[in-house]
Amino acid sequence: MALAGRPRFDGKVVLVTGAGSGIGRATVLALAGEGASLFCVDVDAPAAEAAAKEATALGAAALARACDVSSQAQVEAAVGACVAAFGRLDGLCHAAGILHMANTHEHTLEAWERVLAVNLTGTFLICRAALPHLLASRGAIVNVASTAGLRGMPWGAAYGASKGGVLAFTRTLAVEYGKRGLRANCVCPGSIDTPMSAGAQIPVDADRDLLQRIVPLDHSRGPETVASVIVLLLSEGGAHINGEAVRVDGGMQA
Ligand code: NAD
Repeated sequence: MALAGRPRFDGKVVLVTGAGSGIGRATVLALAGEGASLFCVDVDAPAAEAAAKEATALGAAALARACDVSSQAQVEAAVGACVAAFGRLDGLCHAAGILHMANTHEHTLEAWERVLAVNLTGTFLICRAALPHLLASRGAIVNVASTAGLRGMPWGAAYGASKGGVLAFTRTLAVEYGKRGLRANCVCPGSIDTPMSAGAQIPVDADRDLLQRIVPLDHSRGPETVASVIVLLLSEGGAHINGEAVRVDGGMQA
């Protein structure tokens, strides 16, 4: 139990992937305000550096590292560098991901494989590398899945499949390691304003009737609305939440 008035992440180290933009960056900033030390990972090195700099300006200890989460060697080196620098690892927020939209009958194998490599294999690689350290600290994982993993998302064949895989994989971690004090949960965002959603390319001949499946119920919101839930799930306040998938979509799929 945290002492009254003490930041929730005082003395805790959290590694955030996709730290350079959107939900990952918002999580870095939210955790920096809660006393965490941050290890900011992104394939976009300058973006990771910028996020770490912003966290430092908020008073946090923060380091940045370029890493493609689909590369086993880069992921293992990044987790190793985090633990070498900070001496421990208490939390993992895995937000790195990519979106590809296409009619499924036109979806290329190349795009399918890249989306699965980054979104699903990347989740396996980063969680596997972090597990020994998180077991030592009785820490927590939050993987960023998607509403696309819960319900059919038109034109998101590989993306939806990858996020459904992330949900199943995370539940596996929850039951396999829960008795050893580790928790693993997902957030399932929907209609969040980030560069990813702004850049989403719907096929030109898309059936407009299907669009209502991916538009917000009311309006979209910023990435900080997902970050606040991630922070809760990583914190002591989430101590009895394990294997859960929390929709953060403004009721879009209610
Ligand atoms: P974003 O594009 O703003 O951020 C994604 C970050 O991941 C970027 O900084 C990018 O450089 C990084 N990244 C991409 N490929 C990488 C790789 N191979 N290795 C390491 N880093 C990599 O997008 P976002 O909306 O903040 O997305 C964050 C997560 O949230 C993703 O997993 C996405 O699928 C998920 N999500 C977003 C929404 C939404 O509405 N924005 C909805 C559902 C799920």
